Amino acid sequence: MKIFVVNAGSSSLKYQLIDMENEKVLAKGLCERIGVSGAISHKAADGRNYSAETPMPTHSEAFEAVVYALTKSEAKVIDSFDEISAIGHRIVQGGSIFKESCLIDSEVIDKIEQLSELAPLHNPANLLGVRACIKIFGEKIPQVAVFDTSFHQTMPPKAYMYPLPYEYFEKYGVRKYGAHGTSHRFVSDRLADIEGKAKKDLKIITCHLGNGCSITAIKDGACLDTSMGFTPLDGFMMGTRSGTIDPSALTYLAEKENLSPADVNRICNKESGMLGISGVSNDNRDICAAAEGGNKRAQLAIEMQRYEILKFVGSYIAAMNGVDAIAFTGGIGENDPDLRKYVCDNLTFIGVEIDDEMNKLRGKEVKISTDASRVNVYVIPTNEELAIARDTLEIISK
Ligand code: ADP
Repeated sequence: MKIFVVNAGSSSLKYQLIDMENEKVLAKGLCERIGVSGAISHKAADGRNYSAETPMPTHSEAFEAVVYALTKSEAKVIDSFDEISAIGHRIVQGGSIFKESCLIDSEVIDKIEQLSELAPLHNPANLLGVRACIKIFGEKIPQVAVFDTSFHQTMPPKAYMYPLPYEYFEKYGVRKYGAHGTSHRFVSDRLADIEGKAKKDLKIITCHLGNGCSITAIKDGACLDTSMGFTPLDGFMMGTRSGTIDPSALTYLAEKENLSPADVNRICNKESGMLGISGVSNDNRDICAAAEGGNKRAQLAIEMQRYEILKFVGSYIAAMNGVDAIAFTGGIGENDPDLRKYVCDNLTFIGVEIDDEMNKLRGKEVKISTDASRVNVYVIPTNEELAIARDTLEIISK
């Protein structure tokens, strides 16, 4: 059985075709510059490639290019889309409505549309992907929505409420929703598998550290708390995002610099974080290289981010009254031994001990804590596409 996984952005479309018999990726690719010009780059698992520039005024033409790449190009992997059992879509914001993944119908589309107010950059773009699939494949292929927020829907009110006047929660749904839920769920499921225990019997902290970063506390098999909030800007500093800062600093700057709400959003989302502090890049590799070369602001950015990560981990240990296992994932979590060492070496007070040799490994699933460590620490590469494909398969099999 083959599942097609779609992650549609406003001008891009990422996809993977996964064979669920062995959970292997048959092909993956990316369409870019949709609405402007159009280009596809496509890779089959055996190394064959196909790329082309072709007009993509809308996502429909992008999907037509994808169908061509998968079924006719020199890197084709199937004869026809009829071989595909279902399509799974990544949807960023499911609000309080979607507590789990679900089959897409017109009512679901309407609700995702309503939730666009909470994710104006993402949900409308995700829906472009859904609608283009309906246009091209009709009702023939079932489509499933998998929400970044669903996993966090188990947070209790004490974790998700903001201490603002209550009416803003009632009127506008202003509260913490979290993000990266599909990744936190995938990694914590895998962690429980490795431990050979039921997830409900483990207190887990998952650190998803990539361009966007979030940390989640998982207790009794469910999300108790997470660092991202009303939007994925919340939490701690990321590639270009500030994370939490005193809101008064923003109102002060807005007055001083005559900034509109849109300006403040842009600054906090695109010009802050590791980029804003280092002035070098938003990319961890560039910042680490600059820091090693003596760049003081790059060094400060690294120190600040690591310190904030440590504080989140520490606060979640307190929130759960302990921790059994910690997992690092995402581009930075999987590849930056120095960051992992910093965090773990500051958790010796609860008996964390890491194996420096194991910790040097990059991008691999590995236990980096010693056998004597009272907390098991892992690197677990995330795989959000596979998580989406698994949900999709489960839903269409019901
Ligand atoms: P996204 O949030 O866009 O999915 P990723 O999870 O791919 O991001 O993470 C991107 C980050 O991972 C970048 O900051 C990149 O520098 C960092 N990264 C990737 N590989 C390495 C590496 N070998 N060493 C250090 N950092 C790395």
